[in-house]
Amino acid sequence: MESRQPNSTDPTAEIVEDSTAATRRIERLSSHLNPPPGGFDGAEAEMALAPCAGRAKIDVNTEQLSKYMRGKYRDVQQGVYDYFNSRPELQTPIEISKDDHRELCMRQLMGLVTEAGIRPFRYVVDDPARYFAILEAVGSVDMSLGIKMGVQFSLWGGSVVNLGTKKHIDKYFEGIDSVEYPGCFAMTELHHGSNVQGIQTVATFDPMNDEFVIDTPNDGAIKWWIGNAAVHGKFATVFAKLMLPTHDTKGVSDMGVHAFIVPIRDMKTNKPLPGVQIHDCGHKVGLNGVDNGALRFRSVRIPRENLLNRFGDVGRDGKYTSSLPSINKRFAATLGELVGGRVGLAYSSVGVLKIAVIIAVRYSLLRQQFGPPKQPEISILDYQSQQHKLMPMLASTYAFHFATSHLVAKYAEMKKTHDEELVGDVHALSAGLKAYVTSYTAKSLSICREACGGHGYAAVNRFGSLRNDHDIFQTFEGDNTVLLQQVAGYLLKQYKEKFQGGTLAVTWNYLRDSMNFYLSQPNPVTARWEGQDHLRDPKFQLDAFRYRTSRLLQSVAVRLQKHSKTLGSFGAWNRCLNHLLTLAESHIESVILAKFIDAVRRCPDEKSRAALKLLCDLYAMDRIWKDIGTYRNVDYVAPNKAKAIHKLTEYLCFQVKNIAKEVVDAFDLPDYVTRAPIGMQAAEDAYSVYTQYAGF
Ligand SMILES: Cc1cc2nc3c(=O)[nH]c(=O)nc-3n(C[C@H](O)[C@H](O)[C@H](O)COP(=O)(O)OP(=O)(O)OC[C@H]3O[C@@H](n4cnc5c(N)ncnc54)[C@H](O)[C@@H]3O)c2cc1C
Repeated sequence: MESRQPNSTDPTAEIVEDSTAATRRIERLSSHLNPPPGGFDGAEAEMALAPCAGRAKIDVNTEQLSKYMRGKYRDVQQGVYDYFNSRPELQTPIEISKDDHRELCMRQLMGLVTEAGIRPFRYVVDDPARYFAILEAVGSVDMSLGIKMGVQFSLWGGSVVNLGTKKHIDKYFEGIDSVEYPGCFAMTELHHGSNVQGIQTVATFDPMNDEFVIDTPNDGAIKWWIGNAAVHGKFATVFAKLMLPTHDTKGVSDMGVHAFIVPIRDMKTNKPLPGVQIHDCGHKVGLNGVDNGALRFRSVRIPRENLLNRFGDVGRDGKYTSSLPSINKRFAATLGELVGGRVGLAYSSVGVLKIAVIIAVRYSLLRQQFGPPKQPEISILDYQSQQHKLMPMLASTYAFHFATSHLVAKYAEMKKTHDEELVGDVHALSAGLKAYVTSYTAKSLSICREACGGHGYAAVNRFGSLRNDHDIFQTFEGDNTVLLQQVAGYLLKQYKEKFQGGTLAVTWNYLRDSMNFYLSQPNPVTARWEGQDHLRDPKFQLDAFRYRTSRLLQSVAVRLQKHSKTLGSFGAWNRCLNHLLTLAESHIESVILAKFIDAVRRCPDEKSRAALKLLCDLYAMDRIWKDIGTYRNVDYVAPNKAKAIHKLTEYLCFQVKNIAKEVVDAFDLPDYVTRAPIGMQAAEDAYSVYTQYAGF
C-alpha cells in the first residue's frame, strides 16, 4: 500500500483541512521545522535550521582526494570497467533465471580472461594487492562474478598453489589460469561448516595401488554449498581426513584433515566421473550466478600425488612425513594459507559499501520533501535524521577503506616474507576486519535502501541485489561470530604473553601501554574536558578506543579464569561469549581508527586532509557516543563531556553533509559502475534516466 505525503511547499496549510494519520505526521514534522520560540536551545536551533541557512563548508578538491584514495592498481580496475562497459551483452540484466545467470557468469569470467586479457591467477601469489583490486572491480560488475572468480582463482587455485608443491603447480597452474580447469574448493559438509575439524569425508591410502580412496561415509558428510560444483567444475580440492593403514589392530590411523585434488567431471563430456555424485544446491537468496552444488564420493580413487603435500606427505611405503609436529599445527598451517579469501571479502565488502553510500547520498541530495512554510522544499539530506543515518556510514566507509588497504598491504608483505609474527597478526586482523566490515555493510545496505524511500526498492536502483548478494559475506570464509572469537582468543594470548614478559605483535603494540593505563583509575580532570580541541584530538580519540579494549580484555581475562574453575575452559568461554565478541569488535575499531588517523596525517593535500580529518572525527565521535554507557559507567567520561560528545557528533554529521557530494564523488566510481539511475553523478539526469526504465 502506498501512502503519499502531500507535495506542498506549505505543509501547514494541509494540516488544518485534513485529519488523516498522514497529516498528523506532517503536523509533527512541521512543528519540528518551525520550532516555537524558546522551544529549542540556541545550539539545537542553529543545528536544526543550519541546513537551510547554508553554513560555511570545507572546500574539497575532489580530484586531489580521489587521487589520494585511488589505489595504485586503479589502472587494472579501469580495464575491468572498460571491458564490461564495452560489452553490454555481458552485463547482468535485472531479471534473469538461475540457469541463465550461471551461464552468463561463466561467459563473463571467460570474457575477462580470454578477451580482456585480465589473468588474475598469477597475482594470487605474486601480487595479491593487484588481485584484490581486480576482485573488487569484478564484484562491482556482478557480485556473482566476483565470487565465481574467487572460487576459481583464490579457493581452487589458491589451495593448489598454497597447499601443494611444485609438481602440482607445474601440472595445474596453466589450466587454472586459463579456466580450462574450472575447479571447486570442497571443505564444507552438510553437518559441518564452521567446525572444519569435524568433517567426516575420508581419504584412505591404498598401498597396493599407490592411491587414495575418497569416501563419503554418511549423508552428513556430503560436501555442501560447493561453488562451481553444480555445473562447471572439473576438479575439486577435497578436504578429508587422511587415513593411513597401520600394522596394529586399529587397522587405520587418522592423520587429520588434508586436502586432495579430485577430478569430478569428464574433461570432454562434462559428465560426473564414476563414483562422484553431484547435485545442485538450488536457488539461493542471492549470488545465483554461482553454481553451488553438493558432492558425494563412493570409493573414488585418485593417485597418491594428488595429496596437496606442502604440510604433510605420504611416501610410496605409506609412511607419513611432516615438518610440523602435530595434527593441530598442520591444521592451523593449512587454514592459515587460506586467509587470502577473507582479505578479499573484507576488501570487496568495502567496495559494495561505497556503491551503496554513493547511491544513497546522491539521491538524498537530489530528493526534496517538505520545507519551511512558503519556501522551497528542502533536500532530504538536510534532515538531521537522514544525516544521522548516512553521514557516520560515509565516515565509516572511508575508515574501512584505509583499514582494508592496510590489511591488503600486510597480507602482501606476509606472502613475501613469511614472517611468523606477521602471519599471526594478519590472520587475526583478516578475521576481525572481515567479520566487522561485512556485518557493518550488511546492515548499511538495508539502511541505504530505507533512506531512499520507495525508489530505493526498485530493483534497477540496486539495493536489493547488493543486499541479497552481499548478505552471505557474513557467513562464508568463516562465520563472523566464529571469526570474532578467533580475534578474542588472539588478544587473550597476547595479554598472557605480556604478563609473561613476551613481545606483542605489531597491531597489538598499543596494549602494552594502555593496559597499564587501564589499571590506573580514569583521570577525573580529563573526564570533564569537553572542548572541541580536546574531543577532536586524535590522542583523546585513540586513548578512548584503546582504553575500552584494554578494560574489556582485562575484565574478560579475570572472568574466564574465575568461571573455568567450575565450568572448565569451554564452559567458561561460552559464559563470557558476548563479552569476548565485544572485546574483539572493540579491538578492531581501535585498529580501524588508528589506520584512519594515520591516513589523515599522511595525506599531502591540505584540503583533502581537512575533509578526511572531519570524516575521521565523525567516525571516532559516533563510535564513542554509541558506546557512551560503557564510558560513563566507569567515569571515563563525565556527564558534561558525554553531552558535548553527542553535540559534536551531530555537528560533525552536519559538516560532513555539507561536503557529502564531493566526498562520495572522490570514490571515483563512474555511473556505469554504480549503475543506479537515482544515484547518478549528474543529479539533473537521475529522474529522467530512472523514468526511462519504466518506459517513459
Ligand atoms: C552461497 C554459499 C557459498 C559457499 N561456498 C562454499 C565453497 O565454495 N566451499 C566450501 O567449502 N564451503 C562453502 N560454503 C559454506 C560456508 O563456508 C559455510 O556455510 C560457513 O563456513 C558457515 O558454516 P555453517 O553453514 O556450517 O554455519 P554454522 O557453523 O552451522 O553456523 C550457524 C550459526 O551458528 C553459530 N555458531 C557456530 N559455531 C559457533 C560458535 N562456536 N560460537 C557461537 N556461535 C556459533 C554461527 O554464528 C551461525 O550463526 C558456502 C556457503 C554458502 C551459503
